[in-house]
Amino acid sequence: MEKNITCIVCPVGCRLTVKKNEDKTYTVTGNTCKRGEKYGVEEMTAPKRMVTSTVKIKDGALRLVPVKTSDSIPKELIFELMELLDDVEIEAPVMVGDIIVENVLGTGINIVASRDMCKVS
Ligand code: SF4
Repeated sequence: MEKNITCIVCPVGCRLTVKKNEDKTYTVTGNTCKRGEKYGVEEMTAPKRMVTSTVKIKDGALRLVPVKTSDSIPKELIFELMELLDDVEIEAPVMVGDIIVENVLGTGINIVASRDMCKVS
């Protein structure tokens, strides 16, 4: 089995071919660096993604503050994560990098603020 994918680890966007071998190992070609090889195998076995979103913020300069995962999370958890973030409301002020949700969905990954937002009112 062979699959063609684009590496999204960096902006270069190498076109990868990932082949599943008979011994159940994977061979990646088209990558320019080792990170691409790791991504290619992971994409076939346990795909993960960085997620960006927003959460509600009380007394902030804006109604929503942008957040992101501190690392990539399993792709199959993204829908559940978005539902969870819908119910989160924090209070201003917040600083970039502040942990908004710790160990989200038991992944060991945190949801962190991706910008500062001061308190108004
Ligand atoms: S293989 Fe390496 S250089 Fe190519 S897109 Fe992936 S991370 Fe970037």
